[in-house]
Amino acid sequence: MELWFTEEHSKYARFSIKVDKQLASIKSDYQRIDIFESKEFGKILTLDGFIMLTEKDEFIYHDMMTHLPMAVNNNISRVLVIGGGDGGAVRELLKYNSVQSIDLVEIDKKVVELCKEHIKSVSKGLDDKRVNIYFEDGLRFIRNKENEYDLIIVDSTDPFGPGEGLFTKQFYGNCYKALNENGILVNQLESVFYSSYEISMQKAYERVSGVFDISYLYMANIPTYPSGSWLFGFSSKKLNPVKDINEQGWKSLNIPTRYYNTEVHKAAFAIPNYIKEKLANE
Ligand code: SAM
Repeated sequence: MELWFTEEHSKYARFSIKVDKQLASIKSDYQRIDIFESKEFGKILTLDGFIMLTEKDEFIYHDMMTHLPMAVNNNISRVLVIGGGDGGAVRELLKYNSVQSIDLVEIDKKVVELCKEHIKSVSKGLDDKRVNIYFEDGLRFIRNKENEYDLIIVDSTDPFGPGEGLFTKQFYGNCYKALNENGILVNQLESVFYSSYEISMQKAYERVSGVFDISYLYMANIPTYPSGSWLFGFSSKKLNPVKDINEQGWKSLNIPTRYYNTEVHKAAFAIPNYIKEKLANE
């Protein structure tokens, strides 16, 4: 008997992956967590039926959320990751000697436990002594932080369920306050290819742009995410993501990456017209 995992990308479009077996399936206090094993994409983590990561293409997403800001400010020391319980962003950040501490705020302890057990290639950095894990709502955690972080990465689920609050003006305002003067916020802004996320991403981009002095979109192609055309936000108080890139500084660190390089960095900020039109309304 064949087993296929299927994700609905819109009412009229689905994406399926043939899986060899299911490694885990539990209902936590927050969401349904499934982990599959597949020939094409390796291990697959899904939450409430949505692909969060696959071993085959997670490097793209995690490279672009971490190395890009690190190339703009080579002295990032204190990092906050909200969401990201799979450990992929943490794994990449630990490659930098400048990173002294990573606060990982993941609302669902079960995600960390299952990724540690089944997806070690992604979660392997979670026991590093520089990592402090807090199992709580990122929305609440950020409230009393001030001038504390050089980088905040919001690696959350989609803008509904536990992740909904992480796309609000109040949350972005608290991120602004929690960052120091060279601080950078990177957040994933989904996709506007299918209409289902278009409105929520227009609103999220309007909100973050309304809070930060500098706010840019950048892109990467992630095959297992809806449409593959994925958006990220780079926001800061004064650092421009392209003009202020410290290319030589970053290259001199000799950080091993599979997707990111400084040419990809600059190209990622070239946004296609159809996306500009959809987000320019805001
Ligand atoms: N790369 C994935 C994507 O783009 O959809 C995200 C991966 S990561 C597994 C998303 C994590 O965000 C989940 O583990 C989820 O539990 C966590 N999360 C969702 N809402 C949260 C919140 N309010 N505070 C902290 N973590 C949250």
